[in-house]
Amino acid sequence: MSKNIVVAIDGYSSCGKSTLAKALAKKLHFIYIDSGAMYRAVTLYFLRNNIDRNDALAVEQALKDIHLEFHSRDYQTHITLNGEEVSEEIRQMHVSEIVSEISAVKAVRKEMVKQQQRMGKSKNIIMDGRDICTTVFPLAQVKIFMTADPKIRAERRYKELKAKGQEITLEEIFENLAHRDYLDTTRKESPLTRAKDAIVLDNTTLNEKEQLEFALERVKPFLDLAK
Ligand code: C5P
Repeated sequence: MSKNIVVAIDGYSSCGKSTLAKALAKKLHFIYIDSGAMYRAVTLYFLRNNIDRNDALAVEQALKDIHLEFHSRDYQTHITLNGEEVSEEIRQMHVSEIVSEISAVKAVRKEMVKQQQRMGKSKNIIMDGRDICTTVFPLAQVKIFMTADPKIRAERRYKELKAKGQEITLEEIFENLAHRDYLDTTRKESPLTRAKDAIVLDNTTLNEKEQLEFALERVKPFLDLAK
């Protein structure tokens, strides 16, 4: 294979990044990496072990003690934290409520970015998150910045979590998304912002098939080159 292809997707919370990334990975037989799951798993570890994010030494030790691994089954993200499957638990509200605070810690970002860059070294991958186009893979061949109406995003998330049996109101979700967007866009370390060369995909009125077509059109030229 010639040079590997990297598709980087950034965007606000719950605007369908992972749905698109998974569909694209399935279609192209690329590896999908959900970088948000990594920050969520770190957050879960901090919560369980009462790690004070302002205590630099404790954070440093925690990062040494955390071992994350992805296992791909049917293009669904399965992540283990020190060998334990935590894919369901990291989606729960107690993690969502604090994940953006933990993600703003410089040492946490440095370690996650290092691991993410390693994963994209020699394979064709699709990675979604907040700083993938700007910081993790600034040289990615395809960069997409996703956005959607905040109300639509909250409704989609509400349906998703309800279907999983989580006790939650639409208002709580709306507040959480707004809170995370605020922290993610205003933090000092690699805040969420559209990379200058990222193409905007506003999916407020687009269905999943239309979004997949949009992304495939962008990747196609690189597939031809890689032949
Ligand atoms: O993508 P997801 O919503 O699961 O991400 C959870 C949180 O992790 C985000 O709100 C953000 O604070 C953080 N995150 C990040 N950088 C990434 C991916 C996620 O800071 N690349």
